[in-house]
Amino acid sequence: MIQSKRTKILCTLGPATDKKAMLERLIRAGMNMARINMSHGVHDEHARRIRRLAEASRAVNVPIGVLVDLQGPKLRIGELTPEGINLKKGQTVHVGGRKSSAPETWIPLDAPTLARELDRGDTILLADGSIALKVTDTDKTALIVRVTRGGHLTSRKGLNVPGRALSVPAFTTKDKADLAFALKHNADFVALSFVRTAKDVRAVKNALKRHKTSKPVVAKIEKPQALDDIDNIIDVADGIMVARGDLGVELSVERVPAAQKTLIQKCAAADRWVIVATQMLESMIESATPTRAEASDIANAVYDGADCLMLSGETAIGKYPDRAVDIMTAICRQSEDTAWLDHPVQTLHPAHEPDLTLRKSSSAQTAERAMVDAALVLLRESDASALWVFTQSGRTAQLVSKSRPEKPVLAFSPHQDTLRLLSGQWGIRPLHVAMVKTTDEMVTAGEQVACERKCARKGDRVIVLAGQAPTIGATDIIKIHHVRK
Ligand code: ATP
Ligand code: MG
Ligand code: MG
Repeated sequence: MIQSKRTKILCTLGPATDKKAMLERLIRAGMNMARINMSHGVHDEHARRIRRLAEASRAVNVPIGVLVDLQGPKLRIGELTPEGINLKKGQTVHVGGRKSSAPETWIPLDAPTLARELDRGDTILLADGSIALKVTDTDKTALIVRVTRGGHLTSRKGLNVPGRALSVPAFTTKDKADLAFALKHNADFVALSFVRTAKDVRAVKNALKRHKTSKPVVAKIEKPQALDDIDNIIDVADGIMVARGDLGVELSVERVPAAQKTLIQKCAAADRWVIVATQMLESMIESATPTRAEASDIANAVYDGADCLMLSGETAIGKYPDRAVDIMTAICRQSEDTAWLDHPVQTLHPAHEPDLTLRKSSSAQTAERAMVDAALVLLRESDASALWVFTQSGRTAQLVSKSRPEKPVLAFSPHQDTLRLLSGQWGIRPLHVAMVKTTDEMVTAGEQVACERKCARKGDRVIVLAGQAPTIGATDIIKIHHVRK
């Protein structure tokens, strides 16, 4: 059996991925999850993308999880004309206030109170820091600035004022509306931008509770304050995203690599899902080949132990979305094969809380972890070729993933939403099986699917980790199974 790519790929959808044929190509190339960035575009557009993605996912027969990324307290400029504006060093420009009669020297603002909070001498960074402005004068609604680092500016780019704690709520009115949209369209994950403390994550969790649901919440780490409260954030969140774009602006670019390593290690210790994001193949927005630095960056994220790597503009607006995924897949596979990759957790765990999305009593958690560890020891020490996890909620498979087993793992579930939930978990191949009545029927059904999908062959010996079908939650069977098909 060919080992498939184990590191998962999350692609941001946008105008460049609007054709169903393109989405199918992305899935075949190795996309596992899709991100809808609520900072850009309108609800209709996002709804269309989610619908088309579901069609493509069905056509290719690969479950694709949808992550809806809430803007959070991120400041942005407003809408410019589609061609954008060129800002030249030394030029004077108006920011915010009423629509200007000179559009080439006016930047609209999507941050009504910003002008009041800034002073002469403050530095404003735009578009992940690529453009810099210095405030030369202010009034209640607008700023007058001098361009100190020029560049081409397009609509809705992010705006940072490093070192300033500006008064924006964590979970804004827009985020609330966008969350309702996400739930209406059955998104699988919710991410919150610019998380500052664990309290910000809790605000989203509480909002989900008010909607009578619980989706995994991903905290985007891009503020220095978040690093100060990181243990609590990792504790309450279901996963984190190393959001390197804004982190590089807010923290300074030279501190991003070490922050990435620390964050990934903390997630490994806490069994939390971790995504590395931004500029992984940035040059491929325009170019058909990546830089060598980008190839190294992807490989290093794999070596660090990331579960999932994200593409942003590369797929949303790039010239080569499918090539970018192809190349990322190739680099991941190659890096997963090298000796540099240190598989960390292979032995029995001390008692700790392997909490994912569903919270259970700690004794149940400990028993579950012990079952997973036992299956992993058997997998490692026997001649079994793979681990088959039968799961209702996905929890068991998530625990398996964070233990980084060397052999392939198939996760079977009768629930499409569970399969989508597992789409982004490292090393897990989610496969659909019909709902059956007995454990024997379940394994037989899994065998059928695994052989059809060329994930198993007659004569293979595999380790089965399951619950007595169809009970929910309790994983209480480990067995060695001989494939008979
Ligand atoms: P974030 O900080 O949340 O990552 P971002 O502005 O960096 O926000 P990305 O999703 O990383 O946005 O995408 C990179 C760029 O691609 C955006 O700045 C924007 O110019 C473009 N883009 C992304 N999604 C869309 C979309 N749905 N419609 C139009 N342009 C988009
Ligand atoms: Mg960001
Ligand atoms: Mg970005």
